[in-house]
Amino acid sequence: MDFQSPTTLKEKKALLKKLETAYNTCFDCGRKYGVYSVGCSSVYESKCGVCGEIKPITETRDFAYFVTGIRKLKLEIQNETKLP
Ligand SMILES: [Zn+2]
Repeated sequence: MDFQSPTTLKEKKALLKKLETAYNTCFDCGRKYGVYSVGCSSVYESKCGVCGEIKPITETRDFAYFVTGIRKLKLEIQNETKLP
């Protein structure tokens, strides 16, 4: 696992914002933060809305709009914010 993972609260908040606002995603980010649902959207080479790399990308809709990743991040942020 050398895929960069957010560790600080600040990084998690930044990632959360990206996931919520991204329109396109590459398949690596999609699989990491979401669940692949549909297989028929157009795939093309462009900039990933999450990691910013030029890769074959598709719509975040194909990964259920990252609901799983967003939910997990929000929980983590909530837990860390509660810490003294
Ligand atoms: Zn990406």
